Amino acid sequence: MSARGLSLMSGGLDSQLAVKILQRAGAKVEGVCFSTPFFDCTSARKAAEALGVELHVIDFTDDEIKLLENPPHGFGGAMNPCIDCHATMIRRAGEMMAELGYDFVATGEVMGQRPMSQNKQALGVVEKSSGMKGRLVRPLSAKLLEPTIPELEGKLDREKLLDISGRCRERQIGLAAEFGIVDYPSPAGGCKLTEDGFSRKLRDLMEHEGLGNREMVELLLTARRFRLPGGTSVILGRDQAENALLKSKAHLGTLIAPVNCPGPTALIPAPLEQIPPDDLELAKRLVCAYSRSDRLPGDIELNLGPVARPYDRTPFKDFQLC
Ligand code: SF4
Repeated sequence: MSARGLSLMSGGLDSQLAVKILQRAGAKVEGVCFSTPFFDCTSARKAAEALGVELHVIDFTDDEIKLLENPPHGFGGAMNPCIDCHATMIRRAGEMMAELGYDFVATGEVMGQRPMSQNKQALGVVEKSSGMKGRLVRPLSAKLLEPTIPELEGKLDREKLLDISGRCRERQIGLAAEFGIVDYPSPAGGCKLTEDGFSRKLRDLMEHEGLGNREMVELLLTARRFRLPGGTSVILGRDQAENALLKSKAHLGTLIAPVNCPGPTALIPAPLEQIPPDDLELAKRLVCAYSRSDRLPGDIELNLGPVARPYDRTPFKDFQLC
C-alpha cells in the first residue's frame, strides 16, 4: 500500500521537487502552505496547480506572531524565527496528518543549504520540537538522515529518495529539467521577516504598539512610517491606493488628510486626545510636506484644522523614519 503524505509547499523549486520525488517513491501527496502577512501562498498555488496536487492553505498568522514575541530558539539574521517557525508549521501539518489519516509530513529542506536553520543539528531540533519524530520526511536529503517510519514500513521507497546537501543548486536544477518543472521563483532568502528593513519596522511596532492588532501588523507592508519624538507613530500613504487603505483603517486611530489640495493621508494609531500636541503638529506638517501642492502649509487645510506655521523642512531631522 502506498503512503499518503502532506508536503509543505512554498512554491520554490525545492518544495516542488519534494513532491515529485515523493511521488516517484510511491507516495500520494497533497500540499500545505502556511500563509501570514509576511508570506503569501501565491507561488505555492501556482506550483500546486502545475504539479496537479491539491493544496491546503492555512492561516498561520497567530502562530507566527506568538513566535515573534517569544521564539524559543531565537531569531536568524533578522526578525526571522526560522527554527521555531519550521517546527510549528510541521507540528500543525502533523495535526492535519493525524486528522486526515496520512502517513507522514514532508518538506523540501536540504541539509546544509542554510547555515543557521538547515544544518544537521537544526533539522534534528525541528524534528524533535515539532513532535514528528519518525514521521517527517525530507526527500531531497533523506538518505543522509535516519530512515523514517513510512520508509521502514516499506510504504515509501528509500532508494528513490535523495542525498543532496549543501548550497550548490546544480542537482536541483538538473532534477527540475528531468521532471519538467520550468516555472519556479529564483531562490530567495525566505519571507519578509528575513529582510532587515522590514524587520526594523516590525521591531519598532513591537516595542511601541505591540503585535496584538493584526491590522497594524498588516499595515507594515505598506506606506511610509515615522516615529515622532513624543513616541507617536505616523503612517503616511504613498499613493491613492495606500491613502484609501489608510482611510479604511480610520477605526485604528486618527486620520489627517488635506481637504483643499492633493496629498497623503496619515494614520496615527491613537485617539486624537491621546496624541501629544507637539507630535500632532509635526504629523500635520508631514502631511503638508508630502502633499503635491504649491501652497504653503499655512494655506493647506487639513481635516484637523489649518497648519499655522510656514513651510520649513528643518524640523524633519527630528523624525525617525522607521
Ligand atoms: S523564512 Fe519566514 S516563513 Fe520561512 S521559516 Fe523563516 S520565518 Fe518562517
